[in-house]
Amino acid sequence: MTTEDVQKITQHMYSPSTADIELITKAYDVAEQAHEGRFRYSGKPYLSHLTETARMLAEIGMGAHTIAAGLLHDTIEDTDLTPEELQKEFGDEIFFLVQGVTKLGSVRYYGSDRHNESLRKLFVATSQDIRVLIIKLIDRLHNMQTLQYVPKEKQLRIARETLEIYVPVTHRLGMGRIRKELEDLAFPYVYPEEFKKITDLTKHIVKKSEVDLEKSRKTLQKRLAEAGIRDFHTSYRAKGMYSLYQKLKRREWDMDNIHDFLAIRIVVPSIEQCYQVLGIVHELWRPLPQRVKDYIAFPKPNGYQSLHTTVITTNSTILEVQIRTKAMHSEAEYGIASHIMYKNIQQGKKETISGGAKSWFSTLVPSLFRPFIWRASKNAETQTQMIKEEHEHKQKIPHWIQEIASAHTTNDSSNEFFDGLKDDFFSYRIFVFTPEGDVVDLPVGASPIDFAYAIHSDIGDHTSGAKVNNKLVELDTKLNNGDIVEIIKNKSNKPTQKWLSYAKTSLARRRIRTALTSQNEVHHK
Ligand code: MN
Repeated sequence: MTTEDVQKITQHMYSPSTADIELITKAYDVAEQAHEGRFRYSGKPYLSHLTETARMLAEIGMGAHTIAAGLLHDTIEDTDLTPEELQKEFGDEIFFLVQGVTKLGSVRYYGSDRHNESLRKLFVATSQDIRVLIIKLIDRLHNMQTLQYVPKEKQLRIARETLEIYVPVTHRLGMGRIRKELEDLAFPYVYPEEFKKITDLTKHIVKKSEVDLEKSRKTLQKRLAEAGIRDFHTSYRAKGMYSLYQKLKRREWDMDNIHDFLAIRIVVPSIEQCYQVLGIVHELWRPLPQRVKDYIAFPKPNGYQSLHTTVITTNSTILEVQIRTKAMHSEAEYGIASHIMYKNIQQGKKETISGGAKSWFSTLVPSLFRPFIWRASKNAETQTQMIKEEHEHKQKIPHWIQEIASAHTTNDSSNEFFDGLKDDFFSYRIFVFTPEGDVVDLPVGASPIDFAYAIHSDIGDHTSGAKVNNKLVELDTKLNNGDIVEIIKNKSNKPTQKWLSYAKTSLARRRIRTALTSQNEVHHK
C-alpha cells in the first residue's frame, strides 16, 4: 500500500533522488499512523486526502519538501502528533511549512463582504512562504473536489469562501488552471440558479463541440506537420462555466457575444514558431476581424502571454486559437508555482523564464499594499479626509516596493527572486486587527501610535492609552502580527514629543509634528 501510494505521488516528479523518495515515504508513513482510524465525510480513510494533496503538489512541480509537508499538513491540527515531534522528525523547513498551513486554517471567512480584501491580504501575509500558500490552495482544491460529501449546511460557507478568498489569490498568483477548477467547483453551490441557466444555455453547444473540436484539431495537426513544425502540442477546452457566467452577465446573456467558448491551444518550442503558427492558422481558417491579440509582445497585467486569434472553421464553428511556448503555458497554468518548478528542473531542461513571466509580482505587490482605509466610518467629512490621505500615501510608495516592482526587468535568477520576495514582502509588514475585525497593515516595529494614526488622525491625536489583546499596554509597545488593538481616546489628550520616538510610520510622525507645532504656537501667543 505504502509503495503504491508513494509511487502515485513521485511519478509526477522530475527525476526525484533516493533521498526525496525516502523523505516522502517517511512522511506518508507518519501521516498514515497519525490519522489512523479517521475518515473523511466520503467514508474514505483520511489519508486519501493527504495522498491526493501530495500528488497534486507533485503534479504542479513542487519539490520533495513541499510534497512531504503536503502529506503532513493536517497532523498538528487534527492528530496527537505534537509540533515538537514533527520538528524533530522532519526538521525546521517542513515543520515551518506545516505550521504555516495550520495557521492559515484560522483565517476564516464569516460571510461579510466588508472583510474580503483584508482577509485576502491577511491570507497572503500569514502564509510567510509562498509554498505554504500553494499547499493551502491545493488542500482547498481537494476539499472542493469532495465537497458533495460534506454536510449540506457547511457546503455553502466553504464554497463562498473559495470564491471570495481563494480564487482571487489564485488569480493574483497567476495559477489559471487551479483558479478555473476552484471556480467551477464552487459555482453550483454559490449560484445554483445561474449555474442551471448557463448549463441549459450551453447544453447543445457542448454536445456538438467535442466532435467539432477534435476534427479541427486533426486538421490543424496535419497542417503544422506539413509546415515542418515538430515538437508541438495541441489541446482544446471549453470555457469554464463560472468565467462564462461572468462574461455573459456583461454581454446581455447572449451566447452570440461570446467568441472564446471553445478554444484550441497550440504549444510550440519557440516564440518565432508562435508567429509562424499564427500565419498557418490564418491561412487555414478565416480569422474574425480585430480578434488577433498579441499578448506576447504586450503581456496582460498578470503576466499572461500568448497569441490569440478567433477563426471560423470549415464546419462554421467559432474557435479561439491560443498559441504559446512551453514556458508561457506553464506560467498560464501554474503561475508562481511554475517558477519554483523551473528552479527544480533547471539542470535537466534549458528553458528560460521570460521577462513578462515575472510580472505577476509587480501586480501582486501594489494591490496588496494599497493603504488600508478604515471602512467602519460613515461620516462624510472623515471619508474625504481619508481619501486625501490615501492619495498622499499613494504618491509616497516606499523605495523598497518600487525596487521589487521593477525587479522583473533585471536578469536575476528565480532563486534570488524568491529570497527577495520572502525578505521584503513578509519581513517588513505586520497585520493587526481592529476590535471590529478589520485588518490594518503596518511596518514591523509599529506601535499603537502608528495604529491609531493609520485609522484616523483624530484618533491618533487624542490617544490616551491602548489595549493589545485586551490587556493595557504602554504606547511604545511593539505590535505583533495578528494582535487585536484597541485605542483608548481622551478628547483632552494631545501628542507629546515622546510620541515621535514611538512612531514608525511617516504618516504618524508627520501628524504628530503638525500637532506639536500648533501646540507651540498656542503657547507662544
Ligand atoms: Mn487538509
